[in-house]
Amino acid sequence: MTPMAFVHSPLDRKANHRSDAGWLQQRRAARNAKFIQVHGDAVRMQEGKLAVAAPASAETPLVFLGEEAGGTPWFAFAGNSEGEMQALRPLMVGGALAPAELSILAQARSLVHWHEKHGFCAACGQKTEMSDGGYRRHCAACGADHFPRTDPVVIMAVQHGGNILLGRQKAWAPGMYSAIAGFMEPGETIEQAVAREVLEETGVVTGAVRYVASQPWPFPSSLMIGCIAEAVASQITLDEKELENARWFSRADVRLMLDHKHPEGIHASHPWAIAHTVISAALQ
Ligand SMILES: [Zn+2]
Repeated sequence: MTPMAFVHSPLDRKANHRSDAGWLQQRRAARNAKFIQVHGDAVRMQEGKLAVAAPASAETPLVFLGEEAGGTPWFAFAGNSEGEMQALRPLMVGGALAPAELSILAQARSLVHWHEKHGFCAACGQKTEMSDGGYRRHCAACGADHFPRTDPVVIMAVQHGGNILLGRQKAWAPGMYSAIAGFMEPGETIEQAVAREVLEETGVVTGAVRYVASQPWPFPSSLMIGCIAEAVASQITLDEKELENARWFSRADVRLMLDHKHPEGIHASHPWAIAHTVISAALQ
C-alpha cells in the first residue's frame, strides 16, 4: 500500500443514485450512517477519534460521500464546534487517523469548501441550492447548474545525466527540497504544463514526460498529477519569486535525503506527499 495520504478511500460513491432524493433520505436515516463535520481546514474530533454524529438540525444540508462495503453511508456537513475541531494537515502528519478515514476527509473537505464558496450563481448572482447529494448546485433564477471543481497541479521530478532536479521555497522548513510543481492552465496538456512550469521556475528545458501517479490534495481541492520529465540540458536559471533554490542532486544524495540521513542536513518530501512517490520513482 502506498504511504501517500488521501488515496485510500473505501467508499463507493453511488453516483447513479445521488439525484434520487428518496434514496438519499433513506441513507441519511440509516442507523449506521456517519456524518463528518468540517469547518475550513478542520474536522470535528472526539477523544482522539473522528466524530461521526448527525448534525443537530435535520435541515442541515448534507453532502453524500458514499457507502462502505457492507452499507455504511457517509455524509459531510459544514459547521464549527469550537474546541473539538482539529486541522487536517497535522492529523495527516501525526498519523492519528487510518488511511481510509483520511481519504474520506479529503473528499469531505473539498466538497464542503466548494459549497461554502458557491452559495451564489456565477452567471446571475442569485442564491443557489445544493442538489444531487452535493455534486451540483442549481440556480432556480436562471436555471444554471454548477459542479464541484478540482484544480489540477503538475508535480515532477526532472532527470538529467543520472541527476535529479529539486527545488525549495523560502517558506519551507530549513533543508527541505521537493519536486517542482505548479497549477495547470486552461488549454494545456499535462506534458505542456510540466515543460512550462519547469522552464518558468528553473530555466531548465525538458523533453519527454512520463506519468507516475496522482493524489487528491484537499487544501482546498487540488489534484496532484505526478510525472517524471527528462531535461535536455542542465543549466539552471532560477525564478527567485517562485523558488529560493534549485539544485541537481546525485541519486545517492536523493536517497539519503528521502531517508532523512543526508550529512548536510538536507532532506526531501515526506511519504504522505506525492512528491516522495515521484522522486522515488525517478530513482528506480
Ligand atoms: Zn443563476
